[in-house]
Amino acid sequence: AKSHGRNKYQFFNPSMNEGTLERLQFMYDLRRALDENELSLYYQPRMETASKRIVGLEALVRWISPEPGAGRIRMPQEFISLAEETGLIIPLGEWVLRAACNQYKEWERQGMPPLRISVNISVVQFGRDEFVSLIRRILEETAMPPDMLELELTESMVMKSDEEVILKLRQLKELGVFLSIDDFGTGYSSFTYLKHFPIDALKIDRSFIQDVPHGVRDTAITKTIIALGRRLGLKVVAEGVETKEQLAFLSSRKCDEVQGYLISKPLAVEEIEPLLRNGNLS
Ligand code: C2E
Ligand code: CA
Ligand code: CA
Ligand code: CA
Repeated sequence: AKSHGRNKYQFFNPSMNEGTLERLQFMYDLRRALDENELSLYYQPRMETASKRIVGLEALVRWISPEPGAGRIRMPQEFISLAEETGLIIPLGEWVLRAACNQYKEWERQGMPPLRISVNISVVQFGRDEFVSLIRRILEETAMPPDMLELELTESMVMKSDEEVILKLRQLKELGVFLSIDDFGTGYSSFTYLKHFPIDALKIDRSFIQDVPHGVRDTAITKTIIALGRRLGLKVVAEGVETKEQLAFLSSRKCDEVQGYLISKPLAVEEIEPLLRNGNLS
């Protein structure tokens, strides 16, 4: 790793602007974080509205920097887009997928009730030719049951008539993984494509849930997405549920699953294990 660093610093010259320097420093730091295991996954429960049971967990990456004190935990907003720009999202994303599958297997060994784990996939990752074979390899290496791995994709990745994209989605479905569209409603959706895509679930973005049930427009949009999902035979999940009122509304509209601070914030492994053992969060 050190010689790696030296190679990069060779390119330094005084005319380089601060942005470039910061970027190089960031790349160096994130590379080190990957090599030295400073990344960690937090897990946020997903609750089935009808049964009030926890049915899944979303894996969310955290960067735990070794320096003690405040700011020790760096959030994805601070590093995901830079990781995408610098290409480091590839090793990072691979690490996340492996860590999530290994954690599933670890919980299985401990005799925990099985919960599907969902992983956020970056557009940069999905766009690579090797994406499907990477998923296949990770499933094999970790002996992860494919239907217990959910990939959260976004509209911008899949809502194209692009043959390659459709082929990729079909191949992923053949592997048996669960596919969902994350942040649904915020991007460009074509209902025509949606109908033909082998997708299993829609996740309604938090920005719509925020003003439910009082905001007239957001409530109308939320109702429409739930109805659309039902018509297409897709599971519908609401994210960012913070109030009992939101939950009551979503239950009354038969939104299948909810996720948000009302149920639980994302938790570290040691925090979530006792809750999972009890089989509920109350
Ligand atoms: P997202 O996929 O929309 O994930 C949900 C985000 O909303 C998480 O933020 C979560 O902590 C937060 N959240 C959950 N419930 C509530 C709530 O009730 N209220 C509010 N205000 N927020 C809530 P987080 O963990 O900071 O992640 C932010 C984004 O970073 C994620 O948004 C996702 O797009 C991205 N991300 C996180 N982990 C990964 C990863 O492993 N790979 C990639 N490519 N992206 C990731
Ligand atoms: Ca997500
Ligand atoms: Ca996302
Ligand atoms: Ca979101």
